[in-house]
Amino acid sequence: MSLTDHPPPPPLKDWIHQIAFLTSAPHAADLALSDIPEIAIAGRSNAGKSSALNCICGRRRLAFSSKTPGRTQLINLFSLSLHEHEVGRLVDLPGYGYAAVDRTTKTRWQQELSRFLAQRDSLAGLLLVMDARHAFGPLDINMLEWFGHRGRPIHVLLTKADKLSRQEQMQTLTKAQRFIQEHAMQWGGQVTATLFSATTRQGREEALDKIAAWWGILPKKNPASDSPGGNA
Ligand code: GDP
Repeated sequence: MSLTDHPPPPPLKDWIHQIAFLTSAPHAADLALSDIPEIAIAGRSNAGKSSALNCICGRRRLAFSSKTPGRTQLINLFSLSLHEHEVGRLVDLPGYGYAAVDRTTKTRWQQELSRFLAQRDSLAGLLLVMDARHAFGPLDINMLEWFGHRGRPIHVLLTKADKLSRQEQMQTLTKAQRFIQEHAMQWGGQVTATLFSATTRQGREEALDKIAAWWGILPKKNPASDSPGGNA
């Protein structure tokens, strides 16, 4: 039986918590090729990537933040299945820009990351986590360029939004959207951004909608919303 023999999947927010650890690899090149749609999640060290991943997946300790200097930074793969069919994977990439790592290690990792983002066929999209107060640093922009030129979608999570006032949130989002618009062509033309908070869960549903769309499991739209005059 294939997935299409079953009723359409329920909204992802109702079962994403079933996601399970699949494997770890020290190097991108160690990951076996895959024909399952994969979504990479990346961010500057301490940006809030692990908290975002745990929040999105509705799990407290799926991803761990790795702050210990010298500790091997692994790529972690998580897998979600429905009716015993694997529907998608999340690829948790080690945080970049970690201050305590020596220059050579940093450069090597940057090269590996760029190759991974530029070449891995199974990547359907990228979730890029940035601290809303320090968004679009040079390393974040590298990520957008490496992945963006493939014309696949990127969703930016401007996280720790709970630390901003309502007005600051609006300013941050407007500024980010303007910046994205200005660079649209360099970054593949499919970059979106949202405010996010692992504390208040702001932005979670939007992130889940992206994931469902990129995995190809978006629930069918209500036909009423497609009709003329419906609320699209
Ligand atoms: P990582 O290194 O990118 O995985 O970052 P972590 O998820 O470990 O978060 C780094 C620090 O920021 C931790 O102290 C978190 O508790 C904090 N943090 C992460 N996300 C949020 C958030 O949405 N709101 C607030 N207030 N703090 C956050």
